Amino acid sequence: MKHAHSNIEYYGSSSTTLLSSLNPFPECTTYSYLLECSLSLSASFSDTSMPILGSLSVLPTTKASTVIDRITEIEGVEERLSDAIRGCDANFKTQTPAVEKFLQRAEALFRELENALQNSSCRQGQSRSTGDADDPKPMVLPANFYSYVVSQLDLIGWDNIVSIDSRLTVIVLKTVDSSGRTHELRLELGEDFPNQAPICTSDLPIEFEIENWRPLSLHPENSDATSGVFMGNTSFELTSKKRSRPSVSAGLALVYEEFEAAVDSYQSLWNELDNIDANTCVLEPILPARRSIRERRIAIRASAGGISAVLSLDCKRPRTVPSSLRFVGATSEVSKLRSHFNEYVAGTLKCDDGLTLQWREDRTVRENLELCFGDIPSKNTADGGEFEIECGICYTNRLGEDGLLPDACCGNTCCARSYHETCLFEWLHSLPSARISFDRIFGTCPYCCEPISVKVKCARS
Ligand SMILES: [Zn+2]
Ligand SMILES: [Zn+2]
Repeated sequence: MKHAHSNIEYYGSSSTTLLSSLNPFPECTTYSYLLECSLSLSASFSDTSMPILGSLSVLPTTKASTVIDRITEIEGVEERLSDAIRGCDANFKTQTPAVEKFLQRAEALFRELENALQNSSCRQGQSRSTGDADDPKPMVLPANFYSYVVSQLDLIGWDNIVSIDSRLTVIVLKTVDSSGRTHELRLELGEDFPNQAPICTSDLPIEFEIENWRPLSLHPENSDATSGVFMGNTSFELTSKKRSRPSVSAGLALVYEEFEAAVDSYQSLWNELDNIDANTCVLEPILPARRSIRERRIAIRASAGGISAVLSLDCKRPRTVPSSLRFVGATSEVSKLRSHFNEYVAGTLKCDDGLTLQWREDRTVRENLELCFGDIPSKNTADGGEFEIECGICYTNRLGEDGLLPDACCGNTCCARSYHETCLFEWLHSLPSARISFDRIFGTCPYCCEPISVKVKCARS
């Protein structure tokens, strides 16, 4: 077994050094219950090598009661220490008080670890008996699963780990992009990991998927073939700030690299969205928005009861004309803005001094919108409340968990009431006179009784 995590060092007198490793979470004893944890003692005498005098290992286990059974008591420390001393300089041999002190410290340290483990296993035993009804059979994983995962996390760098669950099967990693935005990747390691790829969850515009996963078995019979893969080339020192990682060819570290590359590919998209969020009045989504959301609903005109535009940016070429730009508000205003926008895109829009204006990709999306529509309300000048049109049926602005805005509008310009599509569908559905044709339901506006229709798919599921 290989234990190379040296996070705690105890320095004794000048002639003795007590090294211990208790890793990877020295201050958190609950982890020592689940992780292979070891404590080794070694004495260093002047220039001679440090013989390991004894070691204590706890293997991961699923039953709290068996933790302590698995502790291998350190035996024969004194004999082995004297063996070690035999080969050392004469100076040390005369220092019996120092040797005794060393042994006492070693003894105390082992007791301490043992107690810590006992306490943590008692606590876990209690929490297991009270809760966990939904999880009666904890997953049993091979011991080298933990060594493998820890070695992979060493490669990724401990600075980049946000959280790890107590079983070491759900790991949340993070990366900071070139503009200082933080992105997280959640990895779920299944029972067949690393033979099977972990399940990834992230907040990217296009779902992040692992491209290259090399199945790897951790079963003992394969260990000769695979040990090189998961133990080799692994540097065990604690990660210092932004240390450059060695190049990796497999495993979680490669997944992390692929994730970093994916994050990198969305830089221009997020720059455009951040620009819009900072300088316009964004009505939807509620800011700060999740990074996967490419849509924005922004205030365009405060007049006529508020007109807003809903646009979605292209992932790879965010500065192209948004393909799905639509306007929301009073129908007559909306059709005016729509033709105005179409002219701008076509390059036929003339401004006051006679020059024509056109959508150009060397401008940001916000600059294009401002050129097209003139001064659009900004975060500071517009009160989002002006655009908070209430639904004429439920009298609220945002509906449901998604916070949907009243999107449907009565076509009668004297009425121009707004409704949530779902509210309007339910209203029309309740009318005996309503009829459904293809995917729309037709009826009359609850206020002005003029004809109105809405898509059928807007029914509340
Ligand atoms: Zn409503
Ligand atoms: Zn109406």
